Amino acid sequence: MTEIKEFRRLKALAKRYARANRIAQHEALDLIAGELGFPHWTKLIAAGKKGWQIETEQMAGVEAFVKRPLPAATFQSGDPEAMNRRFAYLEQAEHGMIGDHAYRLQQVFHDVIIAGEGWSIRVPENPGAPPIVETFTDRDAECPVLNPEFLQTALSLARNRALQARAGLATDWPRRSTKPDLSGVVRHPLSHSESDVWFCLHCDGKITGAQIAENLWHCPGCGASPLDIFDTPLCSDDDGKSFLPVKTEGTADRDEPDFRIVDGRPKLDLNEEKIILLIRSALLDDATNISEKLGALQAEISVDDENGVWIALEEDLWPAGKEPVQALAVAELLGLEVELESSWSTIPFAWPGLGEIASSTSEYTQMMLDVYAQYGGSPDRKAKAS
Ligand SMILES: [Zn+2]
Repeated sequence: MTEIKEFRRLKALAKRYARANRIAQHEALDLIAGELGFPHWTKLIAAGKKGWQIETEQMAGVEAFVKRPLPAATFQSGDPEAMNRRFAYLEQAEHGMIGDHAYRLQQVFHDVIIAGEGWSIRVPENPGAPPIVETFTDRDAECPVLNPEFLQTALSLARNRALQARAGLATDWPRRSTKPDLSGVVRHPLSHSESDVWFCLHCDGKITGAQIAENLWHCPGCGASPLDIFDTPLCSDDDGKSFLPVKTEGTADRDEPDFRIVDGRPKLDLNEEKIILLIRSALLDDATNISEKLGALQAEISVDDENGVWIALEEDLWPAGKEPVQALAVAELLGLEVELESSWSTIPFAWPGLGEIASSTSEYTQMMLDVYAQYGGSPDRKAKAS
């Protein structure tokens, strides 16, 4: 590799790094010079003129460096030590330990999820949306994520990975989508229209170019995706005057982003649909032949507000006076009073008695087809007549 080629390569890497991390190119050049032990880029160039050459391992080091995200806070404080520690952290992040607790860290689309035994944290793609901390353990069991120190460590791992994910996203977009020009004009990453003021179709918010670029084209007000962001106030009678500016609060790179802790354990929501499902399943337990099974499947079941369940069983499919013991037992477990009724309606197939002698549904089906073929009317003729 010749000297000029090497510097070109470094410049190209700086360009990629600047774009991924939404910083100016000269800042990226200085950071890369820093990686190679120079205080800034011009010193590196000067050394090059005096014969300094980059070694192969050093180039590999720079290539690895540009693949990592740039944590904004660390960059602002300019502490290379802290930066390196964070990078080291990131590299071992797919599977790891926090104290005695194992975790795995993964990216699902653009969201980042870190999870361990009994807990998970999701950091959404939208930089303005708070991470969601879910716990899955019993009330008595200890959940590591409820320990503030553990939580901060887990959150920072996930947030660092989210920065990396967002950097990847930004690299795919036009440069002007993430870096406003001097008058605050930015380009929409999908429509490619340009403006210094944007409108959220979702919450009728008015957003500056700098705000929307900073928030990676998610509405800083309501979190709507880039698809809902337009350069004109759609559906507005007053040319967007009624659109209110969204607050910058809730955008990326806050030092202490808030998060939500939710109990992720399954919760029982016993609504009418689920009660009916259980009662019908119990009726199937009670059914002793194919006819009764059809009766259970066809039964009309409803639940009223006063803790009662009403079951209407078709008289031709369910013997009058047969008590659905299992259904009554399920209702009792659910604290429901049962009202049983017989009903008469159109049954699905004629000759319901066939279902009482058939031993399986396939046997019943065969018998039913045969009987229809022998004694039934032609469906074709019936269709023509109607
Ligand atoms: Zn919005």
